[in-house]
Amino acid sequence: MDAWWLAFRQLYAYTVSTPFNPILYADMAEHTHHFANWPFPDDADTISYCTGKVAHENFPVLRVTHDHDGDWQFLDATTDDPGEPVLVCLGCVFERDATLSDIADLPRGWCAYRSAIGEDWECWEKPLEADGDDEHE
Ligand SMILES: [Zn+2]
Repeated sequence: MDAWWLAFRQLYAYTVSTPFNPILYADMAEHTHHFANWPFPDDADTISYCTGKVAHENFPVLRVTHDHDGDWQFLDATTDDPGEPVLVCLGCVFERDATLSDIADLPRGWCAYRSAIGEDWECWEKPLEADGDDEHE
């Protein structure tokens, strides 16, 4: 999973390092969210990274990673090869599955896993190296 994420980060380094990529920003600006109780420390329009199954096929989020740099990943955990990630705003992810409020306070650098929606989350700290820093090759 982390290898997949590293590969993605290299591929999309420009997009990820540019907070308001014009195309992304336009997509996000087309809708807004209003939640009475917003559990996450980040804004609802924060970009998160989902697997295609989560984003397009309504698979439940079973693994969450809050990266050391603050990025959120929502993964279906059905395979070690989740394919190309899809950018989805945090509000849309939460809107579909409010049980994610249970891990909204997951600190940066931590991962969480549950076997199904409604099950308890197991959380663990990710070693710093796992984020990788391939910029000094
Ligand atoms: Zn949204």
